[in-house]
Amino acid sequence: MTATAAAFSDAQLRTDLLIGDSWSPASDGSRFDVTDPSTGKVIASVASASVDDAGRAVEVADRARHEWSRTSPRERSDVLRAAFELVIEHREELARLVSLENGKALADARAEVTYAAEFFRWYSEEAVRVLGTVQTAPAGTNRILVLREPIGVALLITPWNFPAAMATRKIGPALAAGCSVVLKPASDTPLTALAIGALLQEAGVPHGVVNVLPSRRSGAVVSAMLDSTPVRKLSFTGSTEVGRTLLRGAADRVVSCSMELGGNAPFLVLADADLDAAVAGAMLAKMRNGGEACTAANRFYVHESVADEFAARLAEAMSQLRVGPGTDESTRLGPLINPEAVATVDRLVTDAVDRGAIVRTGGHALVRPGWYYAPTVLDAVPADASILHEEIFGPVAPIVRFTDLDAAIHAANDTEYGLVSYVYTRDVAAGMRVAEELQAGMVGLNRGVVSDPAAPFGGIKQSGLGREGGHEGLLEYTEDKYIATAW
Ligand code: NAD
Repeated sequence: MTATAAAFSDAQLRTDLLIGDSWSPASDGSRFDVTDPSTGKVIASVASASVDDAGRAVEVADRARHEWSRTSPRERSDVLRAAFELVIEHREELARLVSLENGKALADARAEVTYAAEFFRWYSEEAVRVLGTVQTAPAGTNRILVLREPIGVALLITPWNFPAAMATRKIGPALAAGCSVVLKPASDTPLTALAIGALLQEAGVPHGVVNVLPSRRSGAVVSAMLDSTPVRKLSFTGSTEVGRTLLRGAADRVVSCSMELGGNAPFLVLADADLDAAVAGAMLAKMRNGGEACTAANRFYVHESVADEFAARLAEAMSQLRVGPGTDESTRLGPLINPEAVATVDRLVTDAVDRGAIVRTGGHALVRPGWYYAPTVLDAVPADASILHEEIFGPVAPIVRFTDLDAAIHAANDTEYGLVSYVYTRDVAAGMRVAEELQAGMVGLNRGVVSDPAAPFGGIKQSGLGREGGHEGLLEYTEDKYIATAW
């Protein structure tokens, strides 16, 4: 590890595998480098779990699960509450670690850590409310009792774009339900997940209930775990492409899957929208996390009558963002995660411009150490541009003008994705109609952010299966047991 990483992490920087109660290197000694995207420099060397390590972690989790599932809900609630308080206590260190390994601006990293902590608080409150049901059978002969039991060992796989929140959004409900977990964080950002693992130990999570296994050998390590009998749950957040592969792998042993996958969010601005609110909402929906969010507005459908003003105001707001290393206090937009991400964004922008889109601001990569792309607004983007059909995952806002609202809704729905949609209008009835017609698991109506630990987050179509957050998120880690009984 380098001095830079240590300076931001104090006692929290962990670089080995967390299996049971010990931090250990990989069984075959493999390690991989973690890089700061703001500079391109290596910040730490992390143990890369082997298939043997994965087997060991599942065994340990399975042993720990029996006792954990028998603890009282209040006990699990207290541990999660302690975890919430510890994350808040270490908010600044964690935010700096997130910013260092992910590149996001500190303001975004602080917001993420607060959001991450809230999943522990929410699920500490939900742990004592795992309600079953009882009813009289229609024939009147017996009672139908339904208990909600913990599903078993849960395999959790997280992406690099929210290294803290994607971990707590899974660990919180799994622990509340009485499950033990093995978490495999993204290889670009394993340090935050390891730090959270250490905080959970400090919070009193019994040994083996939470295991954290970074690995560069994701495919082999994850399929070994999916193939092992104790694993009954896979909760994955990442790209639709990898999600499909994992669903196929889970089919062999019929493992229950929750999938939070990619998005291609439309953002509709109707003719009567409050433009101040719409531009502020657009900046949030597009630029939270520098555009590297599954919820990021990917396509702006703006009514022709307000399009000139909206485009000008959005371009002005985007051009004023100060670009720089995530860990600089003055930075508003950090780098992209890696050079491939810059190449993808550049390809999409070039394709749109070649097809006739107009660049209102930006439109190019930035030449400096690290992996930066200029905040960009494209106007009059034609329907066949690739940027309207692929996840951009960068600071680019493509605007499409419309005159017919139904045609705009049709275009918004013309995608394999269905995670989130946004609508801005002063007419709440019109907004509700549009919200109901948009094919998405979530809709922001005059809101640029929908994420909330208390709400069911998730997508339809190829954006996912199941929900995270809310009470629904906990039920993903339970199975119903029905007891037919007469008394
Ligand atoms: P990714 O699919 O490349 O990787 C996600 C995780 O899967 C990582 O931990 C990675 O190491 C692992 N992985 C990769 N290949 C694997 C394989 N063959 N077998 C097993 N595991 C494998 O995604 P990413 O680039 O880390 O994240 C960006 C994607 O995540 C975007 O598509 C984004 O929309 C999506 N995302 C979705 C949500 C949501 O809640 N819907 C939230 C955040 C990110």
